[in-house]
Amino acid sequence: MIDNPFFEAWTAPFGLPPFGRIRPEHFPPAFERATMEESDEISLIARSRETPTFSNTVEALERSGRLLKRVGKVFFNLNASSTNAALEAIARDWAPKLAQHQMRIAHNAELFERIADLHARRVRLGLELDQLRLIERRYLDLVRSGALLPAEQKRRLSAICERLATLHTLFAQNVLHDESEWQLVLGEGDLEGLPGFLRTAAAHISRERGLEGRYVITLGRSLIEGFLTFSARRDLRQIAFEAWSRRGAHEGANDNRPLIREILTLRAEQAALLGYASYAAFKLDDSMAKSAEAVDELLRQVWDAGKLQVSVERGQLRRLASAEGLNTDLEPWDWRYYAEKVRQATYNVDAAEVKQYFVLNNIVSAAFDTAARLFGVSFIERTDLVLYHPDMRAYEVRDQDGRHVGLFLQDNFARPGKRSGAWMSSFRVQESFADVVSAIVVNNNNFSKGNPTLLSFDDARTLFHEFGHGLHGLLSRVRYPTQSGTSVRQDFVEFPSQMFEHWIYEPENLRKYARHYQTDEPIPEALLQRLLEARTYNQGFATVEYTAAALLDLEFHRHPAPNAIDVDQFERETLAAFEMPAEIAVRHRPGHFQHLFAGSDYAATYYAYLWAESLDADAYQNFRDSGNPFDPTLASRLKTIYSSGDSRDAKELYAAFRGREPTLDALLRQRGLVAAIVRPAGR
Ligand SMILES: [Zn+2]
Repeated sequence: MIDNPFFEAWTAPFGLPPFGRIRPEHFPPAFERATMEESDEISLIARSRETPTFSNTVEALERSGRLLKRVGKVFFNLNASSTNAALEAIARDWAPKLAQHQMRIAHNAELFERIADLHARRVRLGLELDQLRLIERRYLDLVRSGALLPAEQKRRLSAICERLATLHTLFAQNVLHDESEWQLVLGEGDLEGLPGFLRTAAAHISRERGLEGRYVITLGRSLIEGFLTFSARRDLRQIAFEAWSRRGAHEGANDNRPLIREILTLRAEQAALLGYASYAAFKLDDSMAKSAEAVDELLRQVWDAGKLQVSVERGQLRRLASAEGLNTDLEPWDWRYYAEKVRQATYNVDAAEVKQYFVLNNIVSAAFDTAARLFGVSFIERTDLVLYHPDMRAYEVRDQDGRHVGLFLQDNFARPGKRSGAWMSSFRVQESFADVVSAIVVNNNNFSKGNPTLLSFDDARTLFHEFGHGLHGLLSRVRYPTQSGTSVRQDFVEFPSQMFEHWIYEPENLRKYARHYQTDEPIPEALLQRLLEARTYNQGFATVEYTAAALLDLEFHRHPAPNAIDVDQFERETLAAFEMPAEIAVRHRPGHFQHLFAGSDYAATYYAYLWAESLDADAYQNFRDSGNPFDPTLASRLKTIYSSGDSRDAKELYAAFRGREPTLDALLRQRGLVAAIVRPAGR
């Protein structure tokens, strides 16, 4: 037996995985042993001759599968943030095996009998609320995995889940490969309009790729959005935009369109086996929203208001474009460019100027300081820990009394082998029922590395967003791992993250942390005020871009016969039916819509961001009304939401914070859509 770090006790501080020693070849034997171990543990629980009790069944399950969780968390984090051909091959091999393993547990009849028995007598067991909720969750998860179905249908469901796991894996790998194969190489003559920071970033990448003296634009969001915002070369903007929007939908080995059809078909069959009319109905049944109708209602209200606002914005952009000599219709590769010019003309806010005041390290400090003022936690950098990439940073989190809270890791920069976008994940979740275990949380971003690294305002907001998820993991104070941190329903999980975004707009924070990268001077007050005034600018675009993606998601997952779908045609016709403005592209086109097709968490649930926004806009209004963005009473009530994980119902948690249910007003006002919605249609 080769030395395998997964079979040893980990001795690094805080129980951190021994990253320096973990190699790809350690994973297959570790997965092998870990799945066998869990199967044995499950057998023992299922075949017990004792009468089922909460302790010998539900708590025993919470205790089981420890090695598999340990191996899986390290593997899937590395595969997302720092992958290579070896890890990708293991993912293709093990994703279906792990799905099969999970289904074997879900379909274990003896285990289900014990859970069903406990579930039936749950109110008589003398349990506390979190325990009661845990039984209900376990029972529901098994039922939703097909535990009540006859054997033949169980087998089919298992096969579906196994195949879906493979398709999700391939989908993500195709996007990554398609992204990394594309680059736009520019010469000195192609840089018109590009500010210094973009030229520096493009020259840096060019050098990395051995193209001295040239400039390379890649498909990382920070870089490509910057290019589309500033490049005065319409021809190059078109080339860049089309490459970006067609990721995963190029003919050839990385084409995701056939995969999408198969994924949708299998999901529809999965839903039908479980007794639902569509996959959307299946997913939404276990959500805060509860039904596709409730989601539809929210999306359509916001869609109509967003489109009205777009008609106003389109007029502004067109006037400026024609004054500059553009005599044709605006195209999707024009919007960001002219929107930036209108922003400059109307609000006197220049994104390139603003960026000079957003130094990555300062914005990280702003996030930490905000968490300290709201929740009483501090972040102490640890430079002695071995992590999986030299760019990563680690911070120990402590409470007011200096007690350990958790470990926070940040992996901020775009690089080859890293999935696009920004996300939070964990290497270990908090729990306290057997041992007291603290969370090890990681935030991933895809900023372009610079010296120093400068962020756009949008990047800074993203950093706060992911940090909000991070706090949800770190501040968790629950008993059972299944209920820890971000394990809430998918349409509530964006609440803590989006809620935290509000503090990046707080003038107090900006005055302190938005400082010039060369002089360290704070952002001029006039610029700060203009920046805040411009907050609702271009929100028609942002609303339409996002909501179109959410509508498309819902329609894909409500389709009665997805095996007949032509993905391009379906996208075109669906958006046309919603009267999608022609000069705006959907935020994620199907070919690279990883939320939907690289896994199932956000499938039929992309609306979750807007759903959560109806809560966070409403919740933040509470802080506004109090006159103190750091109001201690409100902060302590908010901390309850961040620390409760899934141990309490989300609706109850929210109502306890706010004292009532949320309304949509705050969201519309926050996006500047109120004027649009009260204006009579057609004007
Ligand atoms: Zn999020």
